[in-house]
Amino acid sequence: MEQLKLPASLFILVPTVFSNKIRNFAIQILFIMSENITNEENKKSLNFIEAIVEKDLAEGKNGRRIQTRFPPEPNGYLHIGHAKAICMDFGIAQKYGGICNLRFDDTNPTKEDVEYVDSIMEDIQWLGYKWENVYYASDYFQQLWNFAIQLIEAGKAYIDEQSSEEIAKQKGTPTQPGVNSPYRNRPIEESLDLFKKMNKGEIPESAMVLRAKIDMANPNMHFRDPVIYRIINHPHHRTGTTWKVYPMYDFAHGQSDYFEGVTHSICTLEFEVHRPLYDWFIDQLKEQKTEDGDYRPRQFEFNRLNLTYTMMSKRKLLQLVQEKLVNGWDDPRMPTITGLRRRGYTSDAIRKFVDKIGYTKFEAIIDVALLEHAVREDLNVKAKRVSVVIDPLKLIIINYPEKKVEMMEAINNPEDETMGSHKIAFTRELYIEKEDFMEDAPKKFFRMTPGQEVRLKNAYIVKCTGIKKDLAGNIEEVYAEYDPQTKSGMPESNRKVKGTLHWVSVDHSIPAEVRLYDRLFKVENPAEDKEKDFRELLNPDSLIIQTNARAEKELENVKPFENFQFQRLGYFNVDPDSTTDKLVFNRTVSLKDSKKL
Ligand code: ATP
Ligand code: MG
Repeated sequence: MEQLKLPASLFILVPTVFSNKIRNFAIQILFIMSENITNEENKKSLNFIEAIVEKDLAEGKNGRRIQTRFPPEPNGYLHIGHAKAICMDFGIAQKYGGICNLRFDDTNPTKEDVEYVDSIMEDIQWLGYKWENVYYASDYFQQLWNFAIQLIEAGKAYIDEQSSEEIAKQKGTPTQPGVNSPYRNRPIEESLDLFKKMNKGEIPESAMVLRAKIDMANPNMHFRDPVIYRIINHPHHRTGTTWKVYPMYDFAHGQSDYFEGVTHSICTLEFEVHRPLYDWFIDQLKEQKTEDGDYRPRQFEFNRLNLTYTMMSKRKLLQLVQEKLVNGWDDPRMPTITGLRRRGYTSDAIRKFVDKIGYTKFEAIIDVALLEHAVREDLNVKAKRVSVVIDPLKLIIINYPEKKVEMMEAINNPEDETMGSHKIAFTRELYIEKEDFMEDAPKKFFRMTPGQEVRLKNAYIVKCTGIKKDLAGNIEEVYAEYDPQTKSGMPESNRKVKGTLHWVSVDHSIPAEVRLYDRLFKVENPAEDKEKDFRELLNPDSLIIQTNARAEKELENVKPFENFQFQRLGYFNVDPDSTTDKLVFNRTVSLKDSKKL
């Protein structure tokens, strides 16, 4: 029996149907619900692929062997969509005692590069998975060539000399049969000879292709004599100039699965229509190789991950990088794994997110707020609380002794006692956030304003007594008096005040730069807008840099990628751009989803 986890389709309704407030509420509820379902049913709840695997194991298919592969094309960096595929491919193998290999689908040398190979390996490991072996489709170029020769010899493939436009024109439509190529019945010897010439570099690119001879009237268009080899005059990052002809995806993928012994070839829904052709080529291979008994790889498809305010096409992400619209593949605004890592996402948060959205057979778009919720939930229990003022305004406590320094106790994480506490220096001169002060405040402003008491986190209750302005009328300094009886921990500290502010000491703080990120695209579904160039849909305010932030001294010796919660502001991590002179932090996510749509 198939038992699905909380269907992602429920989540999908959330962004479009409801207003923002209801949407956020709904997201929380759905998370709680899904948590309960998972807890109650524990390991019983299976996604549909797990259900298939369990059935296959019960029936003893493929000698009860489970072998999967993750097959990226090394033509870009991995993104959050790939993480969904990775969790499936590696997750299934892990769960059922099988193996998962990493296979680079490197059949198009013009777009591929070792830089991508390296980054893909790094990202998979960072996500917490280990492959059994690393393979390359290019390892099979000889085997694939031999197979192509066998097809030609069997009269099942021929060299076509028409242009790709002519071939496309003859394809017909799903309800109308295609037209045979004039080269379809050329003698086998001629095709063999031309195919060899193609690979010797004697034929110009696009002048000829090798096509499988299947069925020009088949209702599945993929059967209408698909092109299986083309000429590419570009050195390959692994095989150099050995080959001039390269197999097409459909002629490489299933065969590679077969050569390796893959049992479950799991991919995304757009390949569903390719599946009959996948099976056809496997049939041809099996015909030639009878000793493999019942073994055959089978393809299964699940829904791609699409996220709101996000573009997932590798081609477009590459364009953003090349045109310097972002600062590289690891720009914290990118949906790439390396970008998310730099942004402060943890691999736990990403895996949990993937688990929550689940796997279905329906294409949909997931609210990016769910991804943000996942990282918030994860960092809430892991991140140390510290104080950083990102847009400082000087506050002078006029009745506090000038040279005095008090080391106040700050709890590291109220969610986890074992994380202990640290000390933060309190002095007469402090910084608070500019936006935490208002001269003429409305009634509901519970932060600092003349005459109103506020609490300084972990320290005293203070009351604003005056301000100093420059000639232009800008506030330069704020003055306040503290009540010595209200030190954190003293009975009087429980006095009711409506606001609590974070602060740092002027002399005991260090300079920092804080990078505040927002969504890279300003529209909910940038991939859908076909009218506009996707670059016009970029959010101009996706990065705001605060260069004058001040951080408490506790942050002096932090390491790149360390995560923190900045009191009242959100979750931040240390950017690798940090130097000993200046720390650089990225905002991973704010404390609450406060998006106004
Ligand atoms: P391209 O845009 O170049 O075709 P791709 O995004 O399909 O690339 P591949 O490198 O071919 O990337 O993908 C490797 C695997 O990751 C494939 O099995 C593919 O189905 C899966 N994958 C890619 N994008 C997503 C996504 N958004 N959601 C889930 N799986 C994905
Ligand atoms: Mg692909």
